[in-house]
Amino acid sequence: MADDIPFDRTFDLKPGKAEEIAPGVRRLLADNPSPFTFKGTVSYIVGRGRIAVIDPGPDDARHISALLDAVHGETVTHIFVTHTHRDHSPAAARIKAATGATVVAEGPHRAARPLHTGEAVRLEASADMEFRPDLSLPDGEVVSGDGWSLEGVATPGHTANHMAFALRDSEFLFCGDHVMAWSTPVVAPPDGAMSDYMASLHKLAQRAETVYFPGHGGAVRDAPRFVAHYIRHRAGRESSILRRLEKGAADIPTLVRAIYIGLDPRLVRAAGLSVLAHLEDLVARGIVATDGPASISGTYRLVSG
Ligand SMILES: [Zn+2]
Repeated sequence: MADDIPFDRTFDLKPGKAEEIAPGVRRLLADNPSPFTFKGTVSYIVGRGRIAVIDPGPDDARHISALLDAVHGETVTHIFVTHTHRDHSPAAARIKAATGATVVAEGPHRAARPLHTGEAVRLEASADMEFRPDLSLPDGEVVSGDGWSLEGVATPGHTANHMAFALRDSEFLFCGDHVMAWSTPVVAPPDGAMSDYMASLHKLAQRAETVYFPGHGGAVRDAPRFVAHYIRHRAGRESSILRRLEKGAADIPTLVRAIYIGLDPRLVRAAGLSVLAHLEDLVARGIVATDGPASISGTYRLVSG
C-alpha cells in the first residue's frame, strides 16, 4: 500500500555519537528504537560555539549526557522543540537546567479538537503534558543565534502544536515527525487531525527547502517531490476507505483489514487511529456519516449523493 512513496530506510547512525551532516549541523541518535521511532529519536545541533539543539529527545539519562558531551565547551543558547510527544520534548527540561537555554516551541501540548468521553487517557499516554516553552513562536517568526537563524513553520497535523524549523540561508528544514524518509507518521486523533496534516503538507510543498532533517531516520532529499508523493499517498488511502464503504457500512477494524495488507501487528492500533483521522475529515466534509461524533468504535457509511 505504501509502495507509492519512494521510501529510503538507509540510516546507519549509532546511538550516542554526534555526527556532522552539513556545515554547522550535527545530529545525535537516542537509543529508543520502536516501530514508531524507527532507530530512535534524532536530536540536531545547529551552529558552533553558541548553538541550538532541535528536539532534545526523550527523558533518557544516557541520551541527555551524550548530548551534553557532544556540545562540551560550547554554549547551548536555545532548545527548539518540533512537538510534544514523549520521544521529542521531555529532555528539554534537564538540558535547560544544565545550560540555561531558552526553550522555543509553538506552544504546550493540546488536542486538535475538543475531547470525546474517554479520550483524555489516550492523549496523555503519548504526550508530554508538562512541557511549557519559554518562548511560544508564532508561524513565520525567526529566532536568531550566533551564526544561525531558524524560522518557525507551523505544521499542525501530527500534533496540533507541531512546528518545523527552516534554517535561513540554507536548503534545510528540520521537519520533526511531519515528513520522514522511511515511513509516513501516525496522524492519530485527538492529538492529530488529518485536515490539518494535509494543509501542512500543501504548505511545505510550496516552500523552497530541498533537504529535510526529520525526527526519525535519515534526511529527506528532493523534499518538494517527496512531499508530493506523501500528498498522493494520503489521497490514495482516502480513496481506499471510500471504495470499501461503497460495499457497505464498516467499522474501523474492518477498514484496517481491507486497507493495510501485511501490517505489523504492533501497528494495528495506530493504523486504526490513522483511519479514524481520515474518517473525521470525511465526516466533516459530509462525504461519510456515522452516529454521534466520529470515534474509534463507530460504524461508518457513505452519504449517498
Ligand atoms: Zn511525534
